[in-house]
Amino acid sequence: MTSTWTVLNLLNWAAPYLEKYGSTSPRLDTELLLAKVLDCQRLELYLRFDKPLDPTELADFKELILKRRQGIPVAYLLGTKEFWSLEFEVNEEVLVPRPETEHLVEAGIEFIENNFPKGCPVLDIGTGCGNIILALAHHFSNLTDFSGLGIDCRPPALAVARKNTLNLKLETVKWLTSDLFEALEPANHSFDLIVSNPPYITSQEMVSLPQEVLREPSAALDGGPDGLNFYRRITSAAKNFLNPGGGLIFEVGDGQADEVKKILASHGYSAISTKYDLARHERVVFGLNSA
Ligand code: GLN
Repeated sequence: MTSTWTVLNLLNWAAPYLEKYGSTSPRLDTELLLAKVLDCQRLELYLRFDKPLDPTELADFKELILKRRQGIPVAYLLGTKEFWSLEFEVNEEVLVPRPETEHLVEAGIEFIENNFPKGCPVLDIGTGCGNIILALAHHFSNLTDFSGLGIDCRPPALAVARKNTLNLKLETVKWLTSDLFEALEPANHSFDLIVSNPPYITSQEMVSLPQEVLREPSAALDGGPDGLNFYRRITSAAKNFLNPGGGLIFEVGDGQADEVKKILASHGYSAISTKYDLARHERVVFGLNSA
């Protein structure tokens, strides 16, 4: 590359290059990475097509494109990911928030609005960068009785979640290192809503994951032989921490909803229901602790 490269030249060079190496969104990836190097909004690139890049900018951009080519997710290269219209810091210690997880947030909002109009204590299990509980906290920031606790078994993930609390100024949310409920005690911790997007990839799928997903922490993906390990463990233990009338809401993988509904039913949850994502997959499963 020479110093005569302009924004437009680079977009036209890098997008087909990334496509050739397997990116399914090469133009978007290229624009996001170039905007990062030029420290501008993605759409501002369109006003700067003729801008030549200086040698440092060119070198930085080339380095990012090479890393992207190696399959590193764009979110890790940018250090951020948008979720629920909020910007979350992310790194290799946390799963990159997915748009379909917004359906879990929607279900949580609906449950709280219908049952706890002043808010309630909410637990998020396997919180990662904290996107789910922080999105709920943001939505309910005016409710006096809303409080959030995000737990995760990996301290490096919680370090990311803590940064997001500060960035988003949502200090009502607290964090605790805990392997599922291990560090919680029913006498001290009770909730009206428990949410979780647990690891749900099956062992068989784990060995053939796309290169990009392999960059994400396997602890955040691996759901055991049939992908349902965490649903079983959480559903049975959650009863000790859910108040009567409390709800349990899971995100589930494609084709898992029926099995997860059965797990909830076998532990006595009622009003079991599901919500679909935009691709018409049953993505969210709800159960009520009526006991
Ligand atoms: N709660 C985070 C998310 O949904 C992380 C989930 C996980 O690590 N399995 O994006």
